[in-house]
Amino acid sequence: MSLEKFLHSLGIRHLVCGSCNGCELEMNALAAPQYDISQEGWGVVASPRHADVITVTGPMSEAMRHAAQMTIEAASEPLVVVAVGDCASGDGVWCEAGSAGPGAGRELEASIFVRGCPPSPDALREGLRAAATLLDGRKS
Ligand code: SF4
Repeated sequence: MSLEKFLHSLGIRHLVCGSCNGCELEMNALAAPQYDISQEGWGVVASPRHADVITVTGPMSEAMRHAAQMTIEAASEPLVVVAVGDCASGDGVWCEAGSAGPGAGRELEASIFVRGCPPSPDALREGLRAAATLLDGRKS
């Protein structure tokens, strides 16, 4: 098997834990023609059971805490959690506001933090590339 399996075949499951939706707009751009991550062999999968990477956005809201934990537990190993944006990384504008808790990436023990409010599609692609490299290292 290639030592770069995940760099060329990455299943991504996205988890919205309490985002304002700004991060999702930039995530959506990854599938648009300008960035088109499908050309790298990457794509969004419908179930965490098929995911190599789970991207998370927002502070962890009370309403999502249990579902988010179940999503992580449903995924198979190896798995890398990527925190998308400043909120998921733990110091965004919505963290600890109202019913919002700390950054979702902090709670879900993310390995990679892509900073920005929101992060650019280029930064997101670099974060996913880092996740794939991490997975390839674990697999080999
Ligand atoms: S990091 Fe910025 S864009 Fe992303 S969820 Fe937080 S406030 Fe919204």
